[in-house]
Amino acid sequence: MKLLTEILEAVVLASSQIRPDIYLLSLEAPTISRDARPGQFVHIRCSHTYDPLLRRPLSIHDIGSKGELVLLFQAKGRGTAWLAGQQAGNRINVLGPVGQGFSIVANKKVAIVAGGLGVVPLLFLARKLLESDNEVNFFLGAQDCDKLLRLEALRRMEVNLFLATDDGSAGFKGTVTDLWKKHLRPGAFDWAYACGPQAEMAEFARLAERVALPAEVSLEERMACGIGLCRGCVTAVCDASGHKKYENVCSCGPVFNAAAVCWED
Ligand SMILES: Cc1cc2nc3c(=O)[nH]c(=O)nc-3n(C[C@H](O)[C@H](O)[C@H](O)COP(=O)(O)OP(=O)(O)OC[C@H]3O[C@@H](n4cnc5c(N)ncnc54)[C@H](O)[C@@H]3O)c2cc1C
Repeated sequence: MKLLTEILEAVVLASSQIRPDIYLLSLEAPTISRDARPGQFVHIRCSHTYDPLLRRPLSIHDIGSKGELVLLFQAKGRGTAWLAGQQAGNRINVLGPVGQGFSIVANKKVAIVAGGLGVVPLLFLARKLLESDNEVNFFLGAQDCDKLLRLEALRRMEVNLFLATDDGSAGFKGTVTDLWKKHLRPGAFDWAYACGPQAEMAEFARLAERVALPAEVSLEERMACGIGLCRGCVTAVCDASGHKKYENVCSCGPVFNAAAVCWED
């Protein structure tokens, strides 16, 4: 069997700062772009040395029209600050694509619920769902209108876009989950996907379960190896018979069936 995950020296094609702390980075990584599925991530060495030692996981945000790998990230600490400083022509060591992505359904009515940075893996998902002839209803939320990420890119796509902000500066006033709840009735959607703050995803999962809606979430855990060896990023899930077990977020996820996640853990 061909191993799809690989390590390569990706060339930076472009880097831009789209908000004071948020960056878009395009990389030439043809084999990763070719094999990538929405919800998968890449594991990046954020240095040309072994300090910091651990790679940093970033979701695959999009595959550009020329096959470039596009990442969207917040500069938080040492690793992402180094990444934010990279210029066109630099090389970055990238492992990927890693993890299990979202299910791509066809000819369905789907809801995508994105809170804050949660939009990162969901734009690529929306693109793939549109290619599979789904009706895509995209619910995008943030604290205020300046923090609604990739609004213009989403407006250019054939999605039905619904906005929510905590302060009411754009769209519905409240959380994106509260907005989604207003549209949620039995049969309103065939499938739903979410990524965002943990509390919002837990609420999303509860709401979906109430109307027996198949739903998937992308989880975040601090991780080390990124390929299922170190067990440093486990999360509690329930198996088919209701027993709790622990699964690696990196290799069994980061996308999980929302109903299987033990949200209280
Ligand atoms: C599967 C996966 C996909 C991700 N995709 C993206 C993405 O596309 N864009 C993006 O901006 N971020 C993403 N993250 C989070 C990103 O990996 C972390 O922000 C990054 O590793 C921080 O590294 P650093 O060296 O800059 O900061 P550190 O110095 O390591 O940490 C800085 C701060 O960030 C916190 N932090 C570090 N790692 C995580 C984490 N995994 N989750 C939550 N908080 C963390 C630390 O507790 C600390 O407060 C993803 C995480 C996972 C697990």
